[in-house]
Amino acid sequence: MTVGILALQGDFREHLQVLQRLQAPARLVRLPQHLEEVDRLILPGGESTTIGKLMVAYDLLEPIRRRAGHDLAVWGTCAGAILMARQITAGEARGQPLLGMMDIAVQRNGFGSQVNSFEASLSLPVLGEPRFRGVFIRAPVIESVGAGVDVLGSLPETGTIVAARQGRLLAATFHPELASDDRFHRFFLEL
Ligand code: GLN
Repeated sequence: MTVGILALQGDFREHLQVLQRLQAPARLVRLPQHLEEVDRLILPGGESTTIGKLMVAYDLLEPIRRRAGHDLAVWGTCAGAILMARQITAGEARGQPLLGMMDIAVQRNGFGSQVNSFEASLSLPVLGEPRFRGVFIRAPVIESVGAGVDVLGSLPETGTIVAARQGRLLAATFHPELASDDRFHRFFLEL
């Protein structure tokens, strides 16, 4: 089992470091043929507009969609979660390329433009105790989820959804790869 990490832009190296720590076979994915060697794929944080445009340029959108409909497990973190979404709600980014595979609607930079980076102690029942340190960097907000989507965790005060799962598709609006806590990666490896 090899885990692919989409390596077009963003913090793919940090994800790679976690997988190496877990001794999980991993490879960077930049071209469609790289997908043939993986059965899981991580979409890292970064700039979703840039990653989306590069996915179009490298002909990756369709192959990822096809594989995800078939056998590929996919986990989007932050910008990656935006790319997973069926819909972007606010005006700013309408028309940017998306994979659109998960029945979630997200708002980019949904925590506002001033206080847009913060940390929160997250209760994520699938990861058990203790709470998970959520690092949010210009994070999106998952505004709604479809009937087939399980909410995995929300912010304590506001109830804002921060992680969700639809079968073998997973989205987190924060950066588990920056938390020095491998539990979320292990959860993805066991999906
Ligand atoms: N704000 C970025 C976007 O809209 C996401 C930020 C991140 O991945 N840390 O794509």
